Amino acid sequence: MGAEEMKPETMRAARMYDVGAPMVLEEVPTPKPTALDVIVKVHACGIVPNLGNVLRNWTTWFPKLPLPKLPATFGLDPAGTVVEVGSGVTGLKVGDRVYVNPGRSCGTCRACSAGNPIGCRSMVLQGYFGFTEKAQETFDRYPFGGLCEYMIAPANGCVKLPDNLTCQQATRLGYTGTGYSALRKGGAGPDVVTLVNGATGTLGLPTVLCALAMGTTKVLAVARNKALLEELRQIAPDRIFTHSTEDGPVRGWAIDQTDGDGVDLAVDCVGPGGTGEQMLDVMRSLRRTGRLVNVGAVAERVPVNVHKMMDWNQSLIGSVWFTTAEGMQLAEMIRAKTLDFNLFKQEGYPLERINEVLAGIENRHGGFSNFSVIPNPE
Ligand SMILES: [Zn+2]
Repeated sequence: MGAEEMKPETMRAARMYDVGAPMVLEEVPTPKPTALDVIVKVHACGIVPNLGNVLRNWTTWFPKLPLPKLPATFGLDPAGTVVEVGSGVTGLKVGDRVYVNPGRSCGTCRACSAGNPIGCRSMVLQGYFGFTEKAQETFDRYPFGGLCEYMIAPANGCVKLPDNLTCQQATRLGYTGTGYSALRKGGAGPDVVTLVNGATGTLGLPTVLCALAMGTTKVLAVARNKALLEELRQIAPDRIFTHSTEDGPVRGWAIDQTDGDGVDLAVDCVGPGGTGEQMLDVMRSLRRTGRLVNVGAVAERVPVNVHKMMDWNQSLIGSVWFTTAEGMQLAEMIRAKTLDFNLFKQEGYPLERINEVLAGIENRHGGFSNFSVIPNPE
């Protein structure tokens, strides 16, 4: 039996009573684990730049995606230390440092049993939103996101952190895993020319890093900001080739970069402000048998030429989030230094400043910045 750290009876949690209302810090009972859960003392919780905007507009933008019952504690990308383990947990112990993959599923359905948790009908992102009407059942079991001092998480949703990764750095595993899973679905690897659209953003930048770590020899990085693109290119000047959308459409450039062929794989990481035309421009850059994996959040309808896709044997693949197994692969890549999180600039804020952080993050340095809230310093 590991010595349990003293866990207080109550804890501070940021709670939202109405969609878009400021969060309120309140004392609530500290959660207790059921048999297969752990309690994680949260050292850092990631805050993506768009989170405040998303929460304010949720019910109008995404009426079909259920939020947890209010008041709710949000917070998508938590990392911290295990302080208590349930009676049936064998693979984790008190003191382990973990990232909590917020992707929750039932664990017993056909999809879950086949190792496909994202195919589960009960799938939710703990501390964020669900995908179907069954989501609330899962939120009832796991009511806390990372914007609190102690959260409950299933042991099989935790990724142990290597010693060379801080909890603040680990909050970036969510978007990194999202990009990594998209690359895997698209068959990334050596000699698979890979275009990343939105390459300097919060999602795009780690997607480029993962492509490099997976052995991709030619990454075509597309974004708007030329200074950020150049900074990105410097990471691997022999492998990263850049194009600013201020200099015109992607297609002609991408075709030139591939001796007239087109790219094997494109990963679209553009956020909700992106247009359908931008995505079509990227699709027109694909070679015969090329794949587009859409992992961004473009909300506009895109009129896709399905006849050409058939003639050219092309695929369009949607991808959301990533599995805990993929998170473990990333942790191992970081330990072995094939993936480097030191290039992210860390900006941490105490839990008391959550509303300020949600109101808007100034002075972002594109995807190089990593913002988090620190409920308990590590
Ligand atoms: Zn399931």
